[in-house]
Order: sequence, then structure tokens, then C-alpha cells
Amino acid sequence: MRGDCIVFGGGMTGIVAAFLLAQEGRKVTVVEPRGGLGGVNTGRVWEGFCLDFGCHLFGNESDVSTSVLLDLMDGEVVPVDVVFASILGGKRTEGFELPALDSLGEEVSARILKEVIAAASSAAGPPPKNLKELLIDRYGPTAASILDSCLQKVFPVPASELAPEAIHATTFRRIKIVSNEMADLLKQLTALDERIARGSSDDPMRFYRNQVRLYPHRSFYPKSRGMLGFAERATRKLEALGVHIVTGSEPTGLGLGHEHVTLELGAEKLTAEELIWTAGLGRLEPLFGGTSGIIHASQSVPMVLYYFDIDKRQETGTSYVNSFDREDLVFRASVPGLYGPETCPPERSYVCCEVPTSLDSDVWNDPSRFTPRIWDEVLRFGVATGEPGRTFIQKAKTSYKAPRADFGERSAWLSHRLSREPRVWAPPEWAFSTTRTILELIPRIRGERAA
Ligand SMILES: Cc1cc2nc3c(=O)[nH]c(=O)nc-3n(C[C@H](O)[C@H](O)[C@H](O)COP(=O)(O)OP(=O)(O)OC[C@H]3O[C@@H](n4cnc5c(N)ncnc54)[C@H](O)[C@@H]3O)c2cc1C
Repeated sequence: MRGDCIVFGGGMTGIVAAFLLAQEGRKVTVVEPRGGLGGVNTGRVWEGFCLDFGCHLFGNESDVSTSVLLDLMDGEVVPVDVVFASILGGKRTEGFELPALDSLGEEVSARILKEVIAAASSAAGPPPKNLKELLIDRYGPTAASILDSCLQKVFPVPASELAPEAIHATTFRRIKIVSNEMADLLKQLTALDERIARGSSDDPMRFYRNQVRLYPHRSFYPKSRGMLGFAERATRKLEALGVHIVTGSEPTGLGLGHEHVTLELGAEKLTAEELIWTAGLGRLEPLFGGTSGIIHASQSVPMVLYYFDIDKRQETGTSYVNSFDREDLVFRASVPGLYGPETCPPERSYVCCEVPTSLDSDVWNDPSRFTPRIWDEVLRFGVATGEPGRTFIQKAKTSYKAPRADFGERSAWLSHRLSREPRVWAPPEWAFSTTRTILELIPRIRGERAA
């Protein structure tokens, strides 16, 4: 298909889809229900700071995705060498963003290691029906139940209620149970290499050197104005390529013809040869007249974000720390002020604390009451020192999201319907990272040229 295209949803997926299509010479309209592009990858201005919505970095994991992002940002990025740690059982482990299970004591880690080896050497059984089953199959019961508890720090449901694909929304694709030296030995066996984590803070490109050649750093970040700057630059870039951007419009109807698709936005109608839907199957289903309630099969997490204005001298050099202890309200405390220039006033920096919660919690309903406790956690995590300056609090009804265990069942009807509808394409919505998002889009958009 080579004609006009409507892209619904102006988050990262919509931005990249529109960019790739426009580069192919297609006439593109992006429709974004909110006031501007960016989706989760954006931020806001406060007292001279460009505050990011949570901790966002672009990972350099593939030359293909990195080259798209560098093009999109005209190369205006800065390299970021992150210094990070995780907390479990009150202990901080440097160089890991996943829970260090060996910090729970020798007896626990010995048991987990035994179970991991048993899991790695047993024959594959039936595919797991939910995330808990996947964790047990992969790591054995002890690690699975600890990881389940860690996960509930972010997603307020047991792993048995999430789909196996939710693993990609976590840092649990491998687990840390032994020292780096021991991990190097064990990882010589492929089945253990796939399960056991080894830190890479001593050499950030350790696992990527053979697959990326274009850009020499592990992560990068917009040169100007943080993630808000990314959204602003992407908007200008798309406009310069002739992309028409419509914001603040909700879809009210969908018309499917043999040659065209029509998206109704109230009184306005947009017609094109193809619609790329990047806002999730849950929001597309009603337009197809479906009633499976896919929207209820997406577990999204409300989040309270605390931003602390600090003096540059209060930075400790740690970029971010993830706490998997449920007694801590903060899941991740980061210092985006460390990443890029032009995000803070001179000599200032800021700390961002992500507090995943629920809509009926005290922290959601009265967040400022918790500010002193949040700052205590910042000090304990070691991302800043001293006293906090001014504080800004933002509440987001949706942040992290993952498929619930019934996602496949609930979305089966619409997926089947879409498989017979060549004019509407919904890219996989559980890509979970910018790199994966881009790698999912490219074959469909650029591949057609080769076909
Ligand atoms: C706090 C946080 C930190 C992250 N950090 C990183 C990171 O460091 N590196 C990385 O690669 N990835 C990171 N991610 C993941 C990354 O942000 C996402 O993979 C990516 O932004 C998803 O883009 P998207 O366009 O698919 O979705 P979205 O950004 O959600 O955009 C989808 C669009 O669909 C529409 N939409 C969807 N739901 C609704 C709704 N309920 N109401 C109205 N409109 C809606 C909106 O128009 C929205 O703009 C992070 C995610 C979060 C939440």
C-alpha cells in the first residue's frame, strides 16, 4: 500500500511510524487525543526545569533503531553513561537495575541457583498461561515468588494475573543470584546464560559491542530540554516532512471501504488508504463494534511523580536507583538533571521519584503529605544529599502498563478481524521499549518497499 496514511496516537510509536512513513514519501496525518505529541515520552516545564515524565533514556541496542532516533533528532543527543543500583531487603547493589536475589542471603541464593539449574535442564513443558508460570518455568519456585512480590511494587496484581508477555515490562528477563565472576563461569552454558544476569557497569557496551557499530555509547538523551525537547523536536521534524498533526481530537467512528478507511473525529472526517493505530486494541475495539472489553485486559499503573529541585552539588553521581522493597514508596529515584544540558537552570539539578500506586491510595489522594518520607527514601537510596529544595508533584493516571492474563482471549476477536482488514494495522502494543517499538515498525513500513 503506497497512499495516504492516518496514524492514530502520537506517542513514541505514532511518532516513529509517521516519521518512517513520511521518509517513504507517504502523505501522513497524525491524530493525537491529547494536546501534543510524545505520549509517555514527554515532560513539562516547571520553574525553569524541563521535567521528564519518569526516567527515560534511549538505549543503544541496535544500529537500526539508533539510526532512526538519531535521524529523528538530527543527531542532537548527548551520550549518557548511567550509574545505577537496585535495592532489595534494604541492601543496595551497584550496577544492577534488577533485584539482586543474592542480597537475601547465601541460603536463599543457593536454593535459587539449584532451582534455576533444574529449570534450565528440564524439558520444555506446555507454554505458560501467565507470568507466574513463566517465572517458575524459567527460574524455579523460590525466585518466582520473590520476583512476584517485587513486581507487585509496580503492578498491583499478582504475576498470575498478568500475561507471560508482561515479562518484557519488567527487568526480570534474567536474574542476579551470584557474583559477576561466578556469573561469567555459569553463563558459558547457553541455558544459564539466558537466565543469569551479570553486571555491566564496568563495561557498559559489554553485551552490545558486537551488535552496535553506529554509536559508541550505551544510552543517549536529547541534547536540549530533556524528553520534552524530544517531543518538541519530533513535532517540528514531522511538520518539516509535511506530516499533518491533529491534536485534541477523539475518534468517534470508523468507516471501512474497499479502497479507503475513514476516521471520524466528531464532525471532521479523515480519509486515507491506511490507518495505523498506536493507541492500543482496547481503544480500537469500540470502533469495530466489539464488546470483549479488551480495555480491561490492560493493567495500567497510576503514578505519583515527586520532583525535587536540588543544587548541582547535592548530586551523588548515581543516575537512578530502583527499590524492590515494598516498604519503600518510591520504585525508582532518578536524577535526570545529570543526563543532559539545558534541562535545569544554571547550577541546579533535579531528582524525580516514581511512586506507582492505585487511585484509592493515600499517596494518590494526598501526595504532599508524603513528601518528607519520599525525600528520606531519596537520601537512603543515595541519589542525592542534603535538604530538598522546592518540590513539584504530578499525578499520572497511566504510566507503566502490561497485558493481563486474559489479554489474548479478550483480543482474539479483534485480532482476527484485523487480520482480514488490510487497511487497518495496530502494531504490537506491548513493545515496552523505544528500541523494540522501532524494530516492530520498520519491517511493515519499510519492508513494503522491498516487496
Ligand atoms: C515511567 C516510564 C519510564 C520509561 N522509561 C523508558 C526508558 O528509559 N527507555 C525506553 O526505551 N522506554 C521507556 N519506557 C517505555 C516507553 O516510554 C514506551 O515503550 C513508549 O513511550 C510507548 O510509546 P507508545 O506510543 O506506544 O505509547 P504512549 O506513549 O502511551 O502513547 C500512546 C498514545 O495513545 C494515546 N493513548 C493511549 N492511552 C490513552 C488513554 N488512556 N487516554 C488517552 N489517550 C491515550 C495517546 O494519544 C498516547 O499519546 C518507560 C515508560 C514509563 C511509563
